[in-house]
Amino acid sequence: MTLAGKADKLGSLEDDTMTTEKVSMEKIASLCKRRGLVFQSSEIYGGLSSCWDYGPLGVELKHNVKNAWWKAMVQQRDDVVGLDSSIIMHPDVWQASGHIDNFADPMVECKACHLRWRADAVEDGKCPQCGGELTAPRMFDLMFKTFMGPVQDEANTVYLRPETAQGMFVNFPNVIGSTRKKLPLGIAQTGKAFRNEITPGNFIFKTREFEQMEMEYFVKPGTDDEWFKYWVDERYKWYIKLGIRKENLRLRQHGEEELAHYAKGCYDIEYNFPMGWAEIEGIANRGDYDLKQHSKHSGRDLSYYDSESNERYLPYIIEPSAGVDRSLLAFLIDAYSEEVVKDETRVFLRLHPDLAPVKVAILPLSRNPKLTPLAKDIYAQLSPHLMAYYDDSQSIGRRYRRQDEVGTPFCVTIDFQSLEDQQVTIRERDSLQQIRVPALELKNILQTKLGGEPFATSQLWTAAQA
Ligand code: ATP
Repeated sequence: MTLAGKADKLGSLEDDTMTTEKVSMEKIASLCKRRGLVFQSSEIYGGLSSCWDYGPLGVELKHNVKNAWWKAMVQQRDDVVGLDSSIIMHPDVWQASGHIDNFADPMVECKACHLRWRADAVEDGKCPQCGGELTAPRMFDLMFKTFMGPVQDEANTVYLRPETAQGMFVNFPNVIGSTRKKLPLGIAQTGKAFRNEITPGNFIFKTREFEQMEMEYFVKPGTDDEWFKYWVDERYKWYIKLGIRKENLRLRQHGEEELAHYAKGCYDIEYNFPMGWAEIEGIANRGDYDLKQHSKHSGRDLSYYDSESNERYLPYIIEPSAGVDRSLLAFLIDAYSEEVVKDETRVFLRLHPDLAPVKVAILPLSRNPKLTPLAKDIYAQLSPHLMAYYDDSQSIGRRYRRQDEVGTPFCVTIDFQSLEDQQVTIRERDSLQQIRVPALELKNILQTKLGGEPFATSQLWTAAQA
C-alpha cells in the first residue's frame, strides 16, 4: 500500500455496510449548500422563494447534464439539429399556441390562512396547511408578463416563455430551408423557461424559473405512433445509461382525461423522489396541432413538401420534454450513498463520470514544497483535457472525503515516492481501490477509465500489485 493508501483509512466496498434507505430532500439540499452545488437565491436578503443559484460545482453538474443530453440528442444523430431561440417571442406566438387562453391552473385559496393550492392537489376539500375552508377554483395565469420598450402599456406586453418548444415550431421553415434536411427531422434546444407556479417547492423540483431540454421531432403523419414509441424508449434508456437505478424510474401513460388539449398521446418518465413518484420528463405525440395553429395565426404556410412521396402535408410532432433541474435532482438523489466503514460514515455520490462536476482531484500528500512542483505540473498537464481540481489543504483523508461527497470519480495522490519513481496513485471513488501509475501516462489512463474501463483489472494494476 502506498502512503496515500495508508492515509485513506476506509476499506473497500466488500466489507462495507451500505445504506440503501432513501435520502431525504433536506439532506440533499444541505449537501448542495455545503459543497457549493446549489444556493438559495438572494440569500443575504432572506432568499427569494423557489429561486435557486447553482454554485461552482453545481454549474459544472448542470453543464454536464445538458451536454450529455445534447450529445445524445443532437451530436450523435444526423436526424436532429440544434437551435437557440430567444426567450421573449412575438406575443402572437402565445396566442397561437393556446397559452394565453389555456395556460392557467384552476386554483383554490384558503379562507383562513390565504395560502393558494392547485385545485387538483387538494384531496378532501380542506386547506392542506390549516384545514380551513377553500374558495371555489379559479384560473391563475402561469405566464410571466413584462413590457418591451419604454412604454408600459398593454400594446407592449410580452411574455417570458413558459417552454422552449415554441421556438422550434416557429423556426421549422427556417431550419428546413437552411439545412435542406428531409423528414423525419428533430430540432432541439436547451434553455430557461418561466412559470408563475402556484405551488413551487421540493427544493429545485418545481421552481418558477427553470431550464428545459426539449426536442421537437417532425414526422410524416401515419408514422407518428411508431416514432412516439421509439422516443419513449430512447428517453427512458438515457436516464438508465447515466446511472439512474431501474427500480427508481418508471413510465406512466396519460389517461384520456389527463391529456393536454393538443396531445394525441403522452407518457411521463417518473422518478421515485423522496416525496414520491413524480415527472422528470414528458414525451407527447402533439399531432399537427402546433404547425396548424402557427400556420393559421401567422398566415404562413408551414406545410412540408415530401419529394419522395410527392405530397405536401403538415408534419406531426413527437416531443420529448425534460427538465434540467429535475433530472439533475434525480441524478443527485440516485447517486447519494452512505457507507459505514470502521465506525466512520462515508458519504459519496456515485455520479456517472460524464456527470461528475470534477473528474479528477490532484492531491499532493501534504503542502510540502518538495511535492508542489510535480503536483502542479500534473494539474497543468491534465486541466486542458479534464475538469481537474487542485487541493493541498487539510489532511489527505479529509480531502478524499470532500471529493467523495461531490462525486469526483478519481483522486490522484502525489507522495514522496513519486519524486523518485515518477509514479502516482489513482484512487477510485466507489471501490476505494488504488493503482500506482506513471505520471506521464495519467491523461490516457484517466480518460480510458472515465470512458468506462474497469478500474483495477488493467495490466497496470497487475503490475502495481506485483
Ligand atoms: P408539472 O405537472 O410537474 O408541473 P408539467 O407537466 O407542467 O410538470 P411539462 O410542461 O411537461 O411539465 O414540462 C416538461 C418538463 O419541464 C417537466 O417534465 C419538468 O422536468 C420540467 N418542468 C416543468 N415545470 C417545471 C417547474 N416549475 N420547475 C422545474 N422543472 C419544471
